[in-house]
Amino acid sequence: MRKPRARTCPICGQPADAADIRPFCSARCRDEDLRRWLVGAYRIPGPAIGGDDDEDGDQERARPGEDG
Ligand SMILES: [Zn+2]
Repeated sequence: MRKPRARTCPICGQPADAADIRPFCSARCRDEDLRRWLVGAYRIPGPAIGGDDDEDGDQERARPGEDG
């Protein structure tokens, strides 16, 4: 296992070692990160919508082996 030599931009993955705006590689990515953060702040992660995947309806099911 080797340690990461240079820091990589969390947005685009490019090396942001020689950048002034670490950990980002550029102001653009920094803005992108801020934007994502804002979007994430608005959209609160919750449980998946729905969950009614029970469309089988096996109530009227023929019983096997009743004929003898
Ligand atoms: Zn970047």
